[in-house]
Amino acid sequence: MNYYSTNQSAPIASLQEAVVKGLAPDKGLYMPENIPLLTNFFFDEIAHFGLTTIAKTVAHAFFGEDIPKAKLDKIVADTLNFDVPLVKVEDGIYALELFHGPTFAFKDVGARFMARVLSYFVQEKKQEEVKVLVATSGDTGSAVANGFLGVRGIRVFVLYPSGKVSDIQEAQFTTLGQNIVALEIDGTFDDCQALVKTAFMDEELNLQMNLTSANSINVARFLPQSFYYFYAYAQLARQGISADVTLSVPSGNLGNLTAGLFAKRMGLPIKRFIAANNRNDVFREYLQSGKYTPRPSVQTIANAMDVGSPSNFDRILNLYGHSHEAISKDISGYRFSDEEIQSAIKRVYEESDYLLDPHGACAYMALKESRKVGETGIFLATAHPAKFKETVENCIGKEIEIPKGLKAFTKQKKQSLPLPREFAPFKKALINLS
Ligand SMILES: *Cc1c(COP(=O)(O)O)cnc(C)c1O
Repeated sequence: MNYYSTNQSAPIASLQEAVVKGLAPDKGLYMPENIPLLTNFFFDEIAHFGLTTIAKTVAHAFFGEDIPKAKLDKIVADTLNFDVPLVKVEDGIYALELFHGPTFAFKDVGARFMARVLSYFVQEKKQEEVKVLVATSGDTGSAVANGFLGVRGIRVFVLYPSGKVSDIQEAQFTTLGQNIVALEIDGTFDDCQALVKTAFMDEELNLQMNLTSANSINVARFLPQSFYYFYAYAQLARQGISADVTLSVPSGNLGNLTAGLFAKRMGLPIKRFIAANNRNDVFREYLQSGKYTPRPSVQTIANAMDVGSPSNFDRILNLYGHSHEAISKDISGYRFSDEEIQSAIKRVYEESDYLLDPHGACAYMALKESRKVGETGIFLATAHPAKFKETVENCIGKEIEIPKGLKAFTKQKKQSLPLPREFAPFKKALINLS
């Protein structure tokens, strides 16, 4: 399968080129040349299939021409070595729990898959060592660092704003060692992102090394996120529910939502999608008015969705031929304030004995507001509530337990390289550490 750029002025790329480059040379996002339709047999039988069987089928449809079947099957099985259960929260409302992976957030799926695909190209296709640069406000860094940990042929540089991520988040990418380097930047998340962008445009650096990005602009990171939409549907089908299913997605850069839209194009019978925003609601605004006005993000308690200029917006436009009418027919948008998130966490905990995290809470509320009689709704629970321990504890007024696997990170020794936010010292560090 080949990939074209949403800006239409870059050469067509192979999967290997698209994954290694990340962003197309014309600054567009890579899109697969076609979206394969899965067979009727697959959908008729889906209730009987498990997560990895489903994921292998979807992966094969996209990547089967480029990666031999046995390798691809192994990449899928290694990626999904944890469950993605669908849990009933109340009548007609289910949570798809995407937080049972190593870093307790949904980004594990895409990051682990991308790491293994990139490693395949480095090891079997004579691709030279690749350096992955990732700027993080918390969750992306941990998923990417853990996804790539120990993977040969790849070195990961995580840039994070000093003092501005939670202790647990910091521990998840500063204690790993091996091929993971944590750069602690004296600045904000935007400074970190600016350093990464400048590095991608620096000719000298790019001549010396292969630099790529591991955020959801990368096709190998966002596409595998479609796997679990099929599995969510399969788990409903097992209970005899298969019609009028709505999916609600807590949205920031829109990578997760875009993967769901791809699943629908592949034939998954989802009736409609909801994009749930926090106060950073440029996408909701677009859905409602047709006007797209990116702007700087504001801080909220659902901080992984604090995005003012969603990077996958162009993919959605491209998928729908730039038709606002078509897009707003398939997707509706909602926004929620911190206060609304807090009271939802408290109410659902008290009434349904289910603990939401601030991101899942947005998607839950959107579902609740929009659900019509007879519809079944699934919201994506994108992070374990313990990752936002203090916020959640403040809502419910009691202490919560941190899962063992999450606590284990905090017991290791922190290793990071402190750097100012200027480009020159960062560039020097990249060269020295390569
Ligand atoms: C990254 C993230 C999101 C937003 O996902 P996008 O694909 O960027 O829209 C939502 N919830 C959590 C917990 C995240 O880490």
